[in-house]
Amino acid sequence: MTLSNRVLKGSVVPPRLPDPRSGLVLDTHELSRRAGEQVEVTRVAEAPAELGIEVIGVPPGSPVDLDLRLESVVEGILVTGTAVVRLRGNCARCLGEISSTEEVDLQELFCYPGKELDDAEAMHVEGELIDLEPVLRDAVVLDLPFTPLCRPDCAGLCPTCGANLNEDPAHSHDEPIDPRWADLTGWNEPTNETKDKE
Ligand SMILES: [Zn+2]
Ligand SMILES: [Zn+2]
Repeated sequence: MTLSNRVLKGSVVPPRLPDPRSGLVLDTHELSRRAGEQVEVTRVAEAPAELGIEVIGVPPGSPVDLDLRLESVVEGILVTGTAVVRLRGNCARCLGEISSTEEVDLQELFCYPGKELDDAEAMHVEGELIDLEPVLRDAVVLDLPFTPLCRPDCAGLCPTCGANLNEDPAHSHDEPIDPRWADLTGWNEPTNETKDKE
C-alpha cells in the first residue's frame, strides 16, 4: 500500500544505473584519472531490445562488435571507435527481407561528476562504469535509412499485379486491364445497403 502511494507513474524516470553485466557497460578502473591515459577495448556485446526503427533494426541479442579507445581527459573519459551491428528489416520497394551489417562511429565524452561542461545531455561516469547503450542507440538510429532498400537499384513490385520485378525484369502487361473491371469501379456502393432491407 505504501509503495503504490508513491509517485511513480508520470514522474521523471530515475537515471538508470549501468548494469555491469551488460557488454555495453565498460569498467574504466584501468584508466587513472590522469589525462592522457588510454586503453583499447575490443569486445562483442549483445544488442539491447528495440534498437532500430519500424522498418529496420538490430535484432535483440545479436552480436555488436565494439572496437573502442577509451581516453582519460580532464573532464572525464572520451570514447571513440566503431560498433558493427546486424540489421534486419524489409525493403521499402519490394518488401523483401534485408539482412546486412552496418558499422557506426561512436564518439562520446563521459564526464566525471562535477566536471560537466554546460550540457544537460552530457553522459556521466557512474562509479567507474560507463554505459554505451544510449550512445549506441543514437548512433544506430541516426544511421538507419528511413526507406531501406534491399539494393540501391531495387526494381520494386509491379503496380498492377504486385509481381516482384527483381525476379522478373521482363515483366509487363501488354493488355490494359480488362474493361469489365473498369466498368465495375464506382458501381458497387448502393448494392450492399439495399440487399438486406427486404
Ligand atoms: Zn527490394
Ligand atoms: Zn504485373
